[in-house]
Amino acid sequence: MDPDVIVVGAGPVGMTAAALLHRAGVTVRILERQTKRPQNPRAATIHPRTLEVLDALPAAHGSNTHGHRATLGAQLAAAGTPMPATHFAALPSLLSYERLDTSYPFVLMCPQPITERVLAEHLTGAGVAIETGVEIVDVDQDDDGIVVHDTNHRAHRARYVIGADGAHSAVRHATDITFPGTTATLAGFGADGVLDRLPERRHQWDPVRGSLSVLTFPNGLHRVFGIEPSETNLADEDARRRQAHVPDVEEIKATLRRVAGDDFGLHDVVWTGRTGDVTRHADRYRSGRILLAGDAAHVHFPAGGQGLNVGVQDAANLAWKLAAEIAGWAPDRLVRGAQSYDAERRPVGEQLASNTQAQSAVMHTFSPSGAALRDLMSELIAQDGDTAEHLRGWLSGLSVRYPAPGTTPGEEHPRAGTRVPDLPLSDGRTLHPALRPDVLTLVSIGAIVPPSLLSKVPGDRLQLLHSVRSWGDAAGALVRPDGYTAAVWDHVTDPELIAQTARSWVATTQT
Ligand SMILES: Cc1cc2nc3c(=O)[nH]c(=O)nc-3n(C[C@H](O)[C@H](O)[C@H](O)COP(=O)(O)OP(=O)(O)OC[C@H]3O[C@@H](n4cnc5c(N)ncnc54)[C@H](O)[C@@H]3O)c2cc1C
Repeated sequence: MDPDVIVVGAGPVGMTAAALLHRAGVTVRILERQTKRPQNPRAATIHPRTLEVLDALPAAHGSNTHGHRATLGAQLAAAGTPMPATHFAALPSLLSYERLDTSYPFVLMCPQPITERVLAEHLTGAGVAIETGVEIVDVDQDDDGIVVHDTNHRAHRARYVIGADGAHSAVRHATDITFPGTTATLAGFGADGVLDRLPERRHQWDPVRGSLSVLTFPNGLHRVFGIEPSETNLADEDARRRQAHVPDVEEIKATLRRVAGDDFGLHDVVWTGRTGDVTRHADRYRSGRILLAGDAAHVHFPAGGQGLNVGVQDAANLAWKLAAEIAGWAPDRLVRGAQSYDAERRPVGEQLASNTQAQSAVMHTFSPSGAALRDLMSELIAQDGDTAEHLRGWLSGLSVRYPAPGTTPGEEHPRAGTRVPDLPLSDGRTLHPALRPDVLTLVSIGAIVPPSLLSKVPGDRLQLLHSVRSWGDAAGALVRPDGYTAAVWDHVTDPELIAQTARSWVATTQT
């Protein structure tokens, strides 16, 4: 039988989408062109919101978990190295995560192959096979469904397809979705290996010599990355030509000596590569039954470790809405209106593009004015005021906010559309693992809510949980399956109002 959804691409985003859809009861196939998982470390930085999102999924049986939590987020956290602070634009002043209201108040150093292994093992445990060696070349769609075609002339049918097939997405190419943006202007260097000694400063920058950053991975490896001034301000063709040349170990060591005066005894190198700053963003995330997520929808300079993180959060926003659409309970505004996947996530993609471009400007303006800009930014971050708060909120993923329905911007409740922290519940659980993909959750936070209210929402699509911790002044919050508030009340005096709001998120007629 044809599945509901075909996910093209078993990268971190495709696997997260498939896992969340499966959990929501959607039948899913994952088609992946590669037969062996790449060991290229790429994403090393996992931010708190990504781990929170993965708390919606159970940990593999018997796995090590962070604290007492048996969730995939906790399992991944246990597989990496937590660091108390992260950087913006490789500036010397760091952004501390230690005071964040999250179960994961740290930035996790975790090479991408480990993240992918954890997700792949979860899928296997859940009985979802990743079909490897299947390369998709085209997609057709009509009113009833989609057909994806592979290089072996086979046709695979489903009701929907998610293109999570990376920057050069064949799924995106098969649609009328465009991918506008800016071309390459630079060619940075990077390598993962063992360092005999560490530089005094993790991030160093010099207007003449260039920049170098060093990250530490859980397995004793280090990542070195940076750029020489001569590799910036390039014409597109030149930048691409230089990016195409992958430096060998000796070239990387020579570059380190030029930039930092030492190669730090780099050895046992597992990867060398180039970084680029092509920034492109899909003009739509949906075309009919075809949806895009992750790098298939947005590419950018890899600054601050964000591509995988934002992509996983795309998947979390998409999965419950598509599941609701398939099950027939999604109101129109979840499918194509103001609360749709496209409407909520494309602004986040825009912000991702501009944030990484801003970081690139701060990192790559090798001149006295660039140095002055860095000093200024670093000073503002060190003050730990509004600037630090804003950047921390963005990088951690915790400040993403979706416009609340039916409210005028600026007049909505300050917590409307925000993500709810992992509040402890009266039944001993915490909120994030207790959220369900197919129901809204009414969290009473001190307010008395009559359980009879549940029967006023069709299809049993409301559960009631009681927080034993306060959350600002909120007395109650209606929480979506992806952990964002649909509505927040300071006083819960009228249960009928809550029921009405909850009903507005549930289509009463099957589509
Ligand atoms: C050097 C570097 C460092 C980075 N560091 C970070 C970081 O610290 N933090 C962070 O968040 N991000 C980082 N990123 C970005 C991150 O690696 C990507 O954003 C992330 O891999 C995107 O995941 P994805 O699943 O969307 O796409 P991908 O990881 O590209 O996965 C796409 C999958 O689709 C498959 N596929 C492609 N085409 C087809 C087809 N036609 N048919 C079938 N399958 C197909 C591919 O084989 C692949 O498995 C970094 C990137 C680089 C290059």
